[in-house]
Amino acid sequence: MTISYTIQQYDTIDSTNLEARRLIQQGFGHGTVVVAETQTAGKGRLGRAWESAKGSGIWFSVILEPAISLQQMSQYSFVIAVAVAEGIRQTTGLESWVKWPNDVLIRGKKVCGILLELVTERNQPVRLIAGIGINASQQMADFPEDVQAKATSLAMETGCEINRQAVLDAVLQQIDANSTRMEQEGFAAIRDVWTALSCVTGKEVQVVRQGETVLCGIAVGLAEDGSLLVETANGGEQIMAGDVSLRAADGGYAP
Ligand code: ADP
Repeated sequence: MTISYTIQQYDTIDSTNLEARRLIQQGFGHGTVVVAETQTAGKGRLGRAWESAKGSGIWFSVILEPAISLQQMSQYSFVIAVAVAEGIRQTTGLESWVKWPNDVLIRGKKVCGILLELVTERNQPVRLIAGIGINASQQMADFPEDVQAKATSLAMETGCEINRQAVLDAVLQQIDANSTRMEQEGFAAIRDVWTALSCVTGKEVQVVRQGETVLCGIAVGLAEDGSLLVETANGGEQIMAGDVSLRAADGGYAP
């Protein structure tokens, strides 16, 4: 069913995901979108910080109540990643790619971070908060030093000014389209699109966990549970956690 979105616009917020959580307590539900010009405590996975400078990005969270099982919820991060990559492609013409588990990259650099959180309460449908941060108008010097080497923005990639509203609208429309696809055709359909948009599909990767290389092989796709499928010399492996990097031309691994 088509999602009808309600946009809640803020100038400054601590984190759009935290605000979404507060709005859920106040009775807001499916289709509520929290958009902010800046976040003072934007967050990434594992408690990492997400840099959200004022007016330079598309910082938003979407509340969803998907008609799928709790088990399928973890597959939703791929629905979101695919939607972001497609929305960016449609509005900017840039080749954006997904990277396991849930980054969106352009030319190997991170243009978007995604943080999915579940809200489960008694007698309530399971709610999902999809936090999405897309770098739009930053130039390199606008990023903190530790992020510069791995980040990019739509403006840096296109060399043009970015219409943030158009990108937001396209991503929301793709979230709608891919949610419907997930509900009607199941994860297999999402998995196929994700694999086609993955920058590592068919390429040699290295998986590092807690600073240690756990395996090297060819990334081939996604398993049913969302783990990354890697073909190694010893057969197929499923990666549940870790950082994946692509083998570079010099034989090393790019971050
Ligand atoms: P990952 O899964 O890549 O560790 P997250 O998606 O959780 O990362 O995002 C947090 C990390 O992303 C931070 O540790 C920081 O290195 C980097 N980062 C923070 N802000 C930005 C930004 N605006 N653009 C790109 N990368 C960022």
